[in-house]
Amino acid sequence: MFLLIIIRDIVNFFIEMKNKFFNSNSYNQDRPVKMKYAMNCYNCGIPLTKKTNNGEHVPPKNLFEGRGPEYKINRKKIPACYDCNNKYSLTDEEFRNLIGVINKHPDLSALTENAVKSMNMGAAKKSRMLYDESGNVKGVAFDLNEIKKFHIKNFKGVFFIQYGYPIPDSYRILVDIKENEVTDGHLRIINYAKDNFTWKYSGHPDIFSYIIQPFRPRAKLDSKDIIPESSEKYFVCLLRYNKSHTALVLADTKNLKI
Ligand SMILES: [Zn+2]
Repeated sequence: MFLLIIIRDIVNFFIEMKNKFFNSNSYNQDRPVKMKYAMNCYNCGIPLTKKTNNGEHVPPKNLFEGRGPEYKINRKKIPACYDCNNKYSLTDEEFRNLIGVINKHPDLSALTENAVKSMNMGAAKKSRMLYDESGNVKGVAFDLNEIKKFHIKNFKGVFFIQYGYPIPDSYRILVDIKENEVTDGHLRIINYAKDNFTWKYSGHPDIFSYIIQPFRPRAKLDSKDIIPESSEKYFVCLLRYNKSHTALVLADTKNLKI
C-alpha cells in the first residue's frame, strides 16, 4: 500500500539566514560540522546548551516495537529542545497505529498488537472505526493532521542529520496529502530521488530509510550527495517506513505547483 503525502514548503531564505545556515564552507556533507548551529533544536531552531539539549532520536522508538536492540544501534540522535522532544507522543502513536494496521510482516506482530490496543482505548475509538451496514468494522480512520506532523518532524530530522543544521523556523510550511493519487509529476520527482541517489537509514533499513537531496532535475548527477547552494530552491525527500510505506516531502523557496 502506498500512501503519498506531499508537503509543499514555501521557503524564504532571508539574507541573514542564508549566511547563517547556508554558507557552503560551514559544513561538510559527509560529516556535519559540530559547530554552534549543531546545537540548535532541529525542529524549532532555538539555540541549545548542553543542559537544555534533550537529544531526539529519529525515528521514534515505537516503530521498533517487537524488534531486538540490534535494530536501534545505529539510530541517529539530533539536538532538540525540551518542548520539541516531548510534544509529539500522540503524533508518534498515531503513526505507529497506522503502520500497525497496514503491517503485513509477521515479525512486526508486536507493533500491530500495540496499535490495536491503543486504538481500542479512549473516546476516540468510536469515531475512528468505520462500520458497514451490518455493523462490522470495514476500516479505520487516522488523523491526517497528526500523520502530516509526523512526516514534517522526520523531514526536519533527516534534514538536520544530512546537513548538520536545522531548517530555519521562518520557513512557511504547507502540507497537502493525497492518497492513492500519484500523478506523473509526483512520479518524476520520486524517480529523480530513487534513481539518482542511494537510500540512507537511521536505526535499521527495515524500519526507516530516507533520501533527502536538492531537487535539480536538469543537473548532471553522479549518485553522490549534492551539496546545497545558498540559493537552493527545492529539496526532495523520501521517507520510507518498514520498507512498505513511503512519504514524499518537498521543500521549496516559492509557491510550488505540483
Ligand atoms: Zn525545539
